[in-house]
Parts: sequence; C-alpha cells; structure tokens
Amino acid sequence: MNCVIYARVSSKEQEKEGYSIPSQLKLLRKYALEKRFRVVAEYIDVETAKKTGRIGFGNMLSFLKSNPTCKTILVEKTDRLYRNIKDWVILDEYDIEIHFVKEGSVLSKNSKSSEKFMHGIKVLMAKNYIDNLSEEVKKGLTEKAEQGEWPARPPVGYTSNKESKLIEPDPIKGPFIKRLFEWYASGQYSLEQLSIKAKESGLFSRNSNTINKAGIHRILNNPIYYGDFIWKGKRYLGKHSTIISKTLYDDVQRVFAQSNHPKETKREFAFAGFISCGKCGCAMTPEIKKGKYIYYHCTQFRGKCDNVYIREERLGHLLADAVKRIRIGEHAVEDIKQALLESQKDKKEFHTSSITSLQKRHNHIQRLLDRAYEDKLSCKISESLWERKSSEWEHELIDIQHKIKSYELANSNYYKTGATILELANSAYDMFLHESREEQRKLLNTILSNCTFYRGTLYPTYRKPFDILAKGSGRILKRG
Ligand SMILES: [Zn+2]
Repeated sequence: MNCVIYARVSSKEQEKEGYSIPSQLKLLRKYALEKRFRVVAEYIDVETAKKTGRIGFGNMLSFLKSNPTCKTILVEKTDRLYRNIKDWVILDEYDIEIHFVKEGSVLSKNSKSSEKFMHGIKVLMAKNYIDNLSEEVKKGLTEKAEQGEWPARPPVGYTSNKESKLIEPDPIKGPFIKRLFEWYASGQYSLEQLSIKAKESGLFSRNSNTINKAGIHRILNNPIYYGDFIWKGKRYLGKHSTIISKTLYDDVQRVFAQSNHPKETKREFAFAGFISCGKCGCAMTPEIKKGKYIYYHCTQFRGKCDNVYIREERLGHLLADAVKRIRIGEHAVEDIKQALLESQKDKKEFHTSSITSLQKRHNHIQRLLDRAYEDKLSCKISESLWERKSSEWEHELIDIQHKIKSYELANSNYYKTGATILELANSAYDMFLHESREEQRKLLNTILSNCTFYRGTLYPTYRKPFDILAKGSGRILKRG
C-alpha cells in the first residue's frame, strides 16, 4: 500500500523541543514500516514569518490527484496537517485515508460520523477558531446582565466607567437623548425631524454614522434610558444611572402607538442576503406586501424563474428546523465528550504517565526529607548538611507541584474546548428560538455557510463540523 508522509513546523515551534521536522519524519517512517506502507513521497513545510504559503502541502495535493493508487497520508497530528478550516475542506474532497499517528486515529470516507465529528472538533481547536464560537455561548455576559450591568458597549448617550464597571450618562450626549424623548413625547415632531435635529446638534457625526430615522426610533424604543435593559431577549433591571424617567418613556411609547405610521422606520429583514434561489442562484430578497407582510422572492422571479414567494415567518421556521438538525441530545453529548477524551489517548497517556512519575518523584523526595529530618534530630547528620539538602529538596518539591498543576490544566483546557462546541451544537436550536434577530443571524452564520430555497423547500449547507451532525438526520427541509 502506497502512502505519502507530511510534516510541518513553524519557525516558532522549531525552538521548542519535540517539534522538529526530523522527529516527525522519524515517527512517520517507523509507523509506515510497522504498518507495511510504502512511502512514495515525503512533503515538508517549514513556515517562517515571511513565507506563509505551504508549498509542500500544495505539491502533496497535486501528487495525490495525479496518482490515484496512493490514497493514504501519514501525519503526526491534526494540527500538523491543517492550519485552517479551508485546508480541511480541500482535503475532505479527496477520497483518502489519513493516519494521525500520534493521536492514534485513522480517518477516511468510511469513518463513523462521531469520529468525523471529533476530528472536526480537533481541526477547529488546532486553529483556535473556537474563540469565535465560544462567543456564542459565553455565559459571563449573561451573568453580568443579571447583576444589572449592561454587558456590551455603551449605547448612545452613555459612556463606560472603568472603575464602577457600569455605564454612565455622557455629560453632553446624555441630556440630548433626554431632549429627543421630550420632543417626541410632545407629539410635535416626526422621527424625520428629530434625525435632522440630531444631525444639527453635531453630537453624533464624529464616528461618521449620523443618526437616521431608524436610529432615532431605536433610541426612543430603548428602555435602557430609564433603567431597564434588554439582553438576549430578556429584560433586566439595570444598576446604572438613568437619563429619562419611566413616565417620559411611557409617554413616548404612547405617541408611537397613536401614530398612524407604525412602520415609519425601515424594517429590518432578518434573513436578507442569506438565502439564494435554488433554481437560478439569484439572491432571495425581502419585500413588504400589503404594508406588513414580508415576503422573500427570487430577484429573477418575474422573469424566467419559476421559484415561489415565501413569508419571512415561514422562512424562520425552516431555518429553525435547519438549526435543529445539529442538536445531538444530552446523552450523545456525554458519549462524545467521553470519546473525545479517549481519542486523545496518546495525550492522555502522556499526561497520566507524566503526572504519575512526577508524583512518584514527589513522594520519594518527601521520604528523603523526612528521613533526613530524623537523622538531624538524632545527630546522624550535621546541621549544615541538613540545611543544604533540605532547602534543595524543598525547592524540587515546589517545582514538581508546579509541573503537575500545569499538566492538569492543559488537559482540562483541551477538554473544555471540545465540550464548548458540543454544547453549542446542542443548545443552538433553543438559542435560535429565543434570540433577537441579530443574534439569530450570528448563529446562522456560525452554523450554516449557505442556504438555497426552491418551491417550499430549504436546502441548507452546514459549516464544518456541524455538517457531520446534520448529515445523519437528512438535509432537505420541506415546508410543513
Ligand atoms: Zn430564481
């Protein structure tokens, strides 16, 4: 059986022990020998700060393409092979078997989906992509909200106080916000006129986004100015100082309700730019019908395409179903978490054996120390020898304790990262149902790369590794 070998190192890693190209090659050649593989080519990449392309990787791909008899790659670890999701996507299209020698796993088209998913998690971790994902499940911000602290950037009219960690009224913009409320409550001004006043005040033009009608509407609708705020669809009691009274806020809402033009502001379309036509590939764009219903339609609709309109609510349901597909269930989450830990056999064994040997050494020194203490008491050793040896041993004990701690920490961090992705997969559906439009979009962007719609059916394309989860439950979502 033919195979190729791939090794990679970055210049930064080269300084560290155990990362060198020769040590990777040695391991891989030995593995090939044991498994009776014939190594037909070896590819290496040494990355420097200046040179970021991967010539070896590219050459390997063209070799595999033109040599269909070679269908196997040997590589040390996941993070040696891929640096980003794109690399993974490219390789995923090749029908090849990859041996991750140090991780003890083999991946091919025939691998179980749970294995593929775990592999996906590893790729993500190799790239720290998780930073983006964990944003979605960050619990800290909600905790902050529960404490009455606005967890995001201060809204217009507020600034943040680094000491109290609360937002506080901006001395200049704050009073102007109050005036906006008063003007609108008087019923004498339209949103249009207020946006002109805001422009004239010169207060909001600095960061080049002057406040338009929709912006004014958002301000006048935001309860944060009288003390409450809404975070992720939930209302919280803020601890910050208010800019207006609740009464003024209510007055403004009354004017809104009385207004004959409730849709005066530009409507926000939840899924604009997200769906394309399954027939001709054009964008599905939103349009308001009868002044209140939002419909999405193919931009070629009136011409040649026979695709149909779809209501935004309906589209929301189809997208929710798409998000639901990646839910795995508490039980499976625990199973995969466990398997994830086990899949890191080499790492785990390395950790365990390292910790065990450190503990042995720790106990040994402790015994030496105890014995020497008795010897000192019974005057078998001199005071100066005791001083010297005991301080030496004490230092080593502290050193060992540090090492043990760092091993334990590294292990739990790795595990946490994988668990975060699993939890995102599992909670995405509930999040989607309860989040604001903006959060829904963010979530969709995390999970789906593209969606097409054709005559009542939504065809979602999932991002990795969620595609693997979704595959199991069928990919086509029919209108119910
Ligand atoms: Zn079309």
